[in-house]
Amino acid sequence: ENLYRIQGWGEPYFSINAAGHVTVSPQGDRGGSLDLYELVAALRQRNIGLPLLIRFSDILADRIERLNAAFARAIARYNYPNVYRGVYPIKCNQHRHIVESLVRYGKPYQFGLEAGSKPELMIALATLEPSSEALLICNGYKDREYIETALLARRLGHQTIVVIEQLEELYVALQISKQLGIEPVLGVRGKLSTKGSGRWGTSTGDRAKFGLTISEMLKVVDELQATGMLHCLQLLHFHIGSQISSISVIKDAIREASQIYVQLTRLGANMCYLDVGGGLGVDYDGSKTNFYASKNYNMQNYANDIVAYVRDACEQGRVNAPILVSESGRAIASHQSVLIFDVLETNDVPSTPPQAVEETEHLVLRNLWETYESINENNYQETYNDAIQFKEEATSLFNFGYLSLKERARAEQLYWACCGKILDIARRQEYVPDDLEDLEKIMASIYYVNLSVFQSAPDSWAIDQLFPIMPIHRLNEEPTQRAILADLTCDSDGKIDQFIDLRDVKSVLELHPLKPLEKPNSDRQKSHEPYYLGMFLVGAYQEIMGNLHNLFGDTNVVHIQMSPKGYQIEYLVKGDTITEVLSYVQYKAEDLLENIRRRTEQALQENRITLKESQLLLNDYERSLSRYTYLVGE
Ligand code: PLP
Repeated sequence: ENLYRIQGWGEPYFSINAAGHVTVSPQGDRGGSLDLYELVAALRQRNIGLPLLIRFSDILADRIERLNAAFARAIARYNYPNVYRGVYPIKCNQHRHIVESLVRYGKPYQFGLEAGSKPELMIALATLEPSSEALLICNGYKDREYIETALLARRLGHQTIVVIEQLEELYVALQISKQLGIEPVLGVRGKLSTKGSGRWGTSTGDRAKFGLTISEMLKVVDELQATGMLHCLQLLHFHIGSQISSISVIKDAIREASQIYVQLTRLGANMCYLDVGGGLGVDYDGSKTNFYASKNYNMQNYANDIVAYVRDACEQGRVNAPILVSESGRAIASHQSVLIFDVLETNDVPSTPPQAVEETEHLVLRNLWETYESINENNYQETYNDAIQFKEEATSLFNFGYLSLKERARAEQLYWACCGKILDIARRQEYVPDDLEDLEKIMASIYYVNLSVFQSAPDSWAIDQLFPIMPIHRLNEEPTQRAILADLTCDSDGKIDQFIDLRDVKSVLELHPLKPLEKPNSDRQKSHEPYYLGMFLVGAYQEIMGNLHNLFGDTNVVHIQMSPKGYQIEYLVKGDTITEVLSYVQYKAEDLLENIRRRTEQALQENRITLKESQLLLNDYERSLSRYTYLVGE
């Protein structure tokens, strides 16, 4: 358990059972649990291929409930004289079943939506129930059409609030409002000077991409006052970046924003909402620290600080306390999704003990052998450097024609043997010298996995984000291998070689050796039992930002909902077929097939192929077009 830190990042949804399988408790500590390995086996029996994204709808419901409960508790604790009205930022995961479920689960809390673009606004308008109290916060860059649609939606009963991010948007909003005779509810997005932190820290600060400076905000107030519309300005919004690891950054931001809120009210704006944006972090490594993959606070601390700071500032400033709005995406959507994928093959560095080198063999081989024999606890760092030097020498000698292919192979084998022996010693030491840190990585086994990092975990590739990854079974057995993961793409960046560790990153993941099949079947491509890994907490941002590198498409997705009988498959969203991904790059399956048909006819004419072979080729081609883009596996 400790190895993968599941208790830290998994609670209360993921744990390990007596059978050594990961279990999922989608309703947290209040409901039943599912054996994830058995669930995957049952889904495989339904012919649902890997990689497979499993979304647990009850986790989504639980996240919304927890967030609202945290604010309700904070409001009660601090006698806050107003309410909380959260919104879900659609950008975090726009998939229809998710947004629809969110709206359904959020209904008791008047939970609304945030749109960051015109397409997202269109989703929100069609999904959110009009005439409810739920807010529809309109962020992002806006053209005339965006603003006009948002204003007209008020006629349907939607609580649209147009947040001014650029001064230009204000002028357009006022013009449209006059033309339509519809009063807008406006907000301003402030550029706080509070410094953000972590990967998304540049979302705030004086030169941030988004929002208005204090003097621009004053211009908005002046313009609205001049047109008799200052009462329309009702909301202050800020967003200091996603995954804020340190509570002190949140405290600073809320302190600054509360003061701006008070001042805007004093200037005569009809302020009634304070929207604190996103940023509520997820504890990916389970360390509960301010490390970038973690956070040093919980949801309750977050709600408490917001409620307490805003109350104090409003009391001191003698203004009414606002309705509190937050736009948490990551903290709501991450936990629900688990990506399951299988290991196709492994590749280990040679580990057979080397044969002694004879006196008659080449000097460089004798040097390597001597180095190997002499390695001990006192000289392992020095001998590591010797081994590297002799290996490089062997390569140069080979390049100049002084070493045969066999001798070069022998040199490599001796080098790996040295590294293996040195690593064994280094692992037993408390302190490992810097130049040996890479050794673990160099000696790691490569586990080839059936997924595309670019499609399923783009943040792992693009910004080195850490996600918890672990086997979902065999957890009663010791994982004796140390591995990195290599994906299906023909891209050397398509790998995962950074894994969670306590407040740190480790370069290898402890995994089990593949188990050979008891009865190897000559028809089958695979010679080992299935070995399933799970990548957890991937429900936010990854799906939509994933790309089609090497034309690996969307994975299969199932939505699992708990039921009195265990669980039911609420939705199955089939992953892309090859025909579908080809159509994204303007190829038509029937044209391609016709091309191949013509080519086989030509080859038949020239006696280069038999009729049987040509039919086999055409059948394979046609069948592949309707297939999943990933390896079909067992
Ligand atoms: N609100 C705005 C304006 C954002 O840009 C974002 C994303 O960065 C969010 C909310 C969601 O943030 P998070 O996923 O950290 O909750």
